[in-house]
Amino acid sequence: MFCERQCALIHIEQLWSENLFTAEGRIMHDKVDTANREARGKVRIDYGVPLRSLRLGLIGKADAVEFHKRDDGRWIPFPVEYKRGKSKMDNCDRVQLCAQAICLEEMLNVEISEGALFYGQTRRREDVVFDKALRTETEDAAKKVHELIESGITPKAEYSKKCKLCSLLNICLPKVNSKASNYLMRAMEE
Ligand code: SF4
Repeated sequence: MFCERQCALIHIEQLWSENLFTAEGRIMHDKVDTANREARGKVRIDYGVPLRSLRLGLIGKADAVEFHKRDDGRWIPFPVEYKRGKSKMDNCDRVQLCAQAICLEEMLNVEISEGALFYGQTRRREDVVFDKALRTETEDAAKKVHELIESGITPKAEYSKKCKLCSLLNICLPKVNSKASNYLMRAMEE
């Protein structure tokens, strides 16, 4: 969702590099992961929950899954993902959370209507509704990522504002690479 080239560099070319943002995020996730389980009245919380969806071909780990007790005695999962920054205009974080909900639905045979994102910078929790549009966007993203990895082709670099946040900036070299590929294209046309 963040960048197809970044996805390809990580999952096709097996490259990785850490920057301040990924290190802060990792430390925040590690802190959440060291907690194990908690119970507060009608809410139980499991941390570091392994996830998978055979239908979408996804595996991962939820930072936390709250289980909310309903009046009929059923415990309904409510995934919570911790993020270091603040709420964003784009849907990247919401799609990630929705993918977690789809995994939990498949694993536990339940319907999950909502979850939440917790942002470390603003200390705010944002509720996310898993509506049809978000579910479609999530399923499309899962399909696209499989197509990308199966193609084995890393998309060419295109520099944009988000590159400044990307931990792979020094590996990707988007400014150099987009100039180089433009030059090669021109040379081939000539
Ligand atoms: S530097 Fe920019 S183009 Fe390159 S992988 Fe990161 S976000 Fe994508």
